[in-house]
Amino acid sequence: MTVPALLAATVRDFPRSRAINFFGRVWTYAELDRDVARAARGLQDLGVKPGTRVGLCLPNTPYSVIFFFAVLRAGGIVVNVNPLYVERELANLIADSGTEIMVTVDLRQIYPKVAAVAARTGVRHVVVCSMSAALPGAKGLAFRLAKRAELAPLAKDGRSITAAVLMRRTGAPMPVDVAPGDVAVLQYTGGTTGIPKAAMLSHANITSNAAQTIQGLGSRAYGHDRILGVLPLFHVFAMMSVMVVGVQTAAELILLPRYDLDQLLGVIARARPTIFPAVPTIYSAIVDAAARRPASLGSIEICASGGAPLPMEVRTRFMALTGCWLMEGYGLSETSPCVSMTPPGRTYKDGSVGIPMDGTTIEIRDVADPGRILPQGERGEVCIRGPQVMLGYWNRPAETAQVMLDGALRTGDVGYLDAEGYLFLVDRIKDVIIAGGYNIYPRVLEEALYQHPDVRDAVVIGVPDKYRGQAPKAFVVLKDNATATPEDLRAFLSDYVSKIEMPREVEIRSELPKTLIGKLSKKELVAEEAAKADPVS
Ligand code: AMP
Repeated sequence: MTVPALLAATVRDFPRSRAINFFGRVWTYAELDRDVARAARGLQDLGVKPGTRVGLCLPNTPYSVIFFFAVLRAGGIVVNVNPLYVERELANLIADSGTEIMVTVDLRQIYPKVAAVAARTGVRHVVVCSMSAALPGAKGLAFRLAKRAELAPLAKDGRSITAAVLMRRTGAPMPVDVAPGDVAVLQYTGGTTGIPKAAMLSHANITSNAAQTIQGLGSRAYGHDRILGVLPLFHVFAMMSVMVVGVQTAAELILLPRYDLDQLLGVIARARPTIFPAVPTIYSAIVDAAARRPASLGSIEICASGGAPLPMEVRTRFMALTGCWLMEGYGLSETSPCVSMTPPGRTYKDGSVGIPMDGTTIEIRDVADPGRILPQGERGEVCIRGPQVMLGYWNRPAETAQVMLDGALRTGDVGYLDAEGYLFLVDRIKDVIIAGGYNIYPRVLEEALYQHPDVRDAVVIGVPDKYRGQAPKAFVVLKDNATATPEDLRAFLSDYVSKIEMPREVEIRSELPKTLIGKLSKKELVAEEAAKADPVS
C-alpha cells in the first residue's frame, strides 16, 4: 500500500471525524483531504514530480500533516528536517538529499535561516506557512499581535511563496505513478560524526509499520482515539505513532508545536487524549509535576514510550499515577521505526522492550563475528528482518553494505532474547564502557540510579582513565528540593553494582543535554570529558 492510499481509505470511511486539533481549530478528514489535494496540486505546479525531494522544516502544526501527505500524493519524497538545525546543518542536509523545495513556517527563528540557505543551495522554492492562519480566529489574531516580533515577513527573493497562495490553485492533483516499493521519506539519523545519513523509507515500509503498530496496540476501534502529538513529527517515532497510525485509525491528532510541561498538562486536561506517545524524560517530568500538584490525566488509555530506555521506576510510578498502560517500543529510524513493543494485555517483563512486531524476525549475532547467529539467551548485536527495514541509506552504498547483512539490519544495539522471544536490550555497542578489559553497561548503572528517590535523570558514560583505559562516570539531575550528594549516590549504588562498575565520579547538574526529541544525549558529555582529559586537542 502507498501512504496516500492510507489517507484515502480514512477519508472515505470517516470524512466527518476530527483529523487535526490545533489549539481548538479543527480539521475533519474531509477538510484535511481537501487541503492535501490543494497543496499537492500546488507542489506539482512548482515542478514536483515522482522522486522530487521536498523538505519539511516545520514544528508540529497542521501544515506538518497537510504537506507530508501532499508531497507524497504529488509523487515526491519527504525529507524530514529538524527546524532547529543551524544554517550549516541545513545546507549539508539540502546538498546531501538534493532537496529542491522547502516547506517552512513564518517564524523568525526558522524562516530567515531557511531562506538564507535556500539562496546559496539548489533549493528552487520556499513555501512559507502562516502560523497565525493555522490557529482559531481569535487566537490567530492575538498571536499576530502579541507575537509580532517572533514573525518573519516574506522575503521578496523570487523564491519564497506563501502556502496560502500555493494552495489557492484549484485543479485536482495530477495522477502519478508511485509504487509501494518507491522511496517515500528520507529520515536523517546517526549524526554523531560528520554529516548525518538518510534512511530511505519506502511507502511499503511505512504502511507496513503502521499496520504492525496498530496490531500491537490491540486493534483499537477506528475513529475512537485522540492522539497527543507533542513529540516532533519530523522525528520517525512521532511520524509513525502520531501521524501515520493516527490517520490510518481515523484518530484526532492533537498537535503541540513545542514541549512545555505546563502547556502540555493543560492540553491533556482540555483535549483529553486517549493515546500519548512520548519519551522517558517527558513521562518522568509529568510524574514529578504531579507529585507537587494534581494533574488531570484520566483520559489517557495508552502511553507509548520509545526512542530511549524507559527506567522501570518511571514506568511504575507513571502507571500508578494515571492507571493507564505504559507500553514501551523499540525502534530506529532505519526500521520506520517500530521493531518490538510490550503490547497491552500481554505479559509484561521488567526490563524488556517486548516481543517483535508481526512479521519481524530478530536475530542476535556475535558482535565480533556478525556472520554467526547466537543461541537464545546469549548477548549479541540485535539484527532485524521485516517489512519495515529501510531500503538503504540514500546515496551511501558503503554505509548501507556495512549495516545490511544478508537482508538483516545490524542495529548497533546489544541485546538478548529470552525463551519466550522477549527482547532485552543491554546497551548500544558504542556506549559500552571497557574498563580494564571488563565490559560495563551504562544502562545497568543508570537503572540503579533511578531507584534512588532523589534522582530525576541519570546518564553514565565512559571517561578516559589512566589505569583502566576507561572508567564510568555518572551525571545526575535531582528532583526539585532533593538533597542527595554525590557521596550519598555512590553509597546507594554500592548495593546494586560491583566495585568494578562503581562510577569513578558522580556529578550533579541542574540539567543534562537532550536530543531534539528529548532523549538524554551522551555525545556532548563524552566530548566535554575528552577535552578535559586532553586539553590540547
Ligand atoms: P535513532 O538513531 O534516533 O533512530 O535511535 C535509535 C536508537 O535508539 C536505537 O538503536 C536504540 O539504541 C535506541 N532506542 C530506541 N528505542 C529504545 C528503547 N525502547 N529502549 C532502549 N533504547 C532504545
